[in-house]
Amino acid sequence: MDLSFTPDEERFRTQLRAWLADNVPRQWRSPSFWSTVSEAEAFELRRDWERVRYRAGFAGISLPREYGGRGGTPGMQAIHDEETARARVPHSVNQIGLTFLVPTVMAIGTDEQKRDIILPMLRNDVIWCQGFSEPGAGSDLAALRTVGVLDGDEFVVTGQKVWTTNAAHGDKIFTLVRTEPGSKRHHGISMLLIDMHQDGVEARPLRQMSGASEFGEVFFTNARVKVTDCLGGVGNGWSTAMLLLSFERGASGLAQYTAFRSQFDEIVAAAGAEQIDDPVLRQRLARRIVDLECLRYHAMHVLTQVEKGGELGAESSLTKLQWSQTHQQLWETFDDLLGPEATLARPRPDADMRSMHREAMWSRSVTIWGGSSQVQRTIVAERVLGLPR
Ligand SMILES: Cc1cc2nc3c(=O)[nH]c(=O)nc-3n(C[C@H](O)[C@H](O)[C@H](O)COP(=O)(O)OP(=O)(O)OC[C@H]3O[C@@H](n4cnc5c(N)ncnc54)[C@H](O)[C@@H]3O)c2cc1C
Repeated sequence: MDLSFTPDEERFRTQLRAWLADNVPRQWRSPSFWSTVSEAEAFELRRDWERVRYRAGFAGISLPREYGGRGGTPGMQAIHDEETARARVPHSVNQIGLTFLVPTVMAIGTDEQKRDIILPMLRNDVIWCQGFSEPGAGSDLAALRTVGVLDGDEFVVTGQKVWTTNAAHGDKIFTLVRTEPGSKRHHGISMLLIDMHQDGVEARPLRQMSGASEFGEVFFTNARVKVTDCLGGVGNGWSTAMLLLSFERGASGLAQYTAFRSQFDEIVAAAGAEQIDDPVLRQRLARRIVDLECLRYHAMHVLTQVEKGGELGAESSLTKLQWSQTHQQLWETFDDLLGPEATLARPRPDADMRSMHREAMWSRSVTIWGGSSQVQRTIVAERVLGLPR
């Protein structure tokens, strides 16, 4: 494991840190800021700011220049993720596209797909959604029922997706569709790249317990998509999806470490003088620090493998397990501070507490999306440790 960055990478860090200091809006640095603006305003603020970042040359850090990227190293990408988290820049509004779809397109997409997908995404001109889950197909993804019937050089798609993040803002959706009639389980599935601005596609928001509607349902009724808008080849959707999920689960743990470390400090600050002297709470906080440091070293281990050209594969499930459990347990410690108030919709009137409570509620979801912890443990047992089924 390599715990250091090269001189070039450190120069990049200095340059980026200075740019962020000058260009991240001052009010974003307050943890409570995002609870003072509406969801729609927050989305537009982030979308516009990311366009500024793209114009300054700080988007697509490790992507080739010919597709609009900066042509940097995976280490520079990790530094970018770490520094933006440190500067309290929220996740990209195109996180799903950037983190999951782009590396998949780079690995198996056609040249035309690389050209058509990457640059508009870096500029946030096209917001991408992920259409995997269905009402009867979550952990058991191969049970999906959305079908695509070939009609000339197009598929006609009918079915329903659910829990689709950014459904209300989506322009396009990478979707798992059964394209071979009568096929079963993992066979006969294709990953289609569907335009959401057509008559046959309807997105409906779903309300979360926090009051936000970050995800929704997407209905396809004879939606049309060209056969050429299939990623990874017709009928190869399952292996394309597994590759994409390895990027989803194994995404940079360093950014998460940095963000969670700031959240830890916020939680400590939120504990009153009386609470912070409680030996049980101190013990729990110490445990969280240990978890966070383990996450940091795991992230450096993964980054070292990626820099050596290694593939994430099933081991990305270890990353997903580690960061999601660390995050959730961190916010459970915050719930301990609040006591029974943690179950209220608005436990305290002040904005900082409101935004922290919202993060605590969000943390309940992280062991579900991207594949639940139970499912990740099975993958680790069978495919990493080689235990019997
Ligand atoms: C905030 C959020 C955002 C999301 N965004 C998206 C998105 O953008 N696109 C998308 O496609 N999906 C998205 N999802 C859906 C997510 O991928 C699914 O919720 C997840 O895969 C679990 O599927 P499910 O909800 O159908 O639960 P189920 O599969 O019904 O699981 C229910 C419970 O049973 C357990 N379980 C199921 N099978 C097994 C097994 N074989 N062994 C042991 N335990 C098992 C699970 O761990 C879980 O505890 C999102 C979910 C959330 C919470």
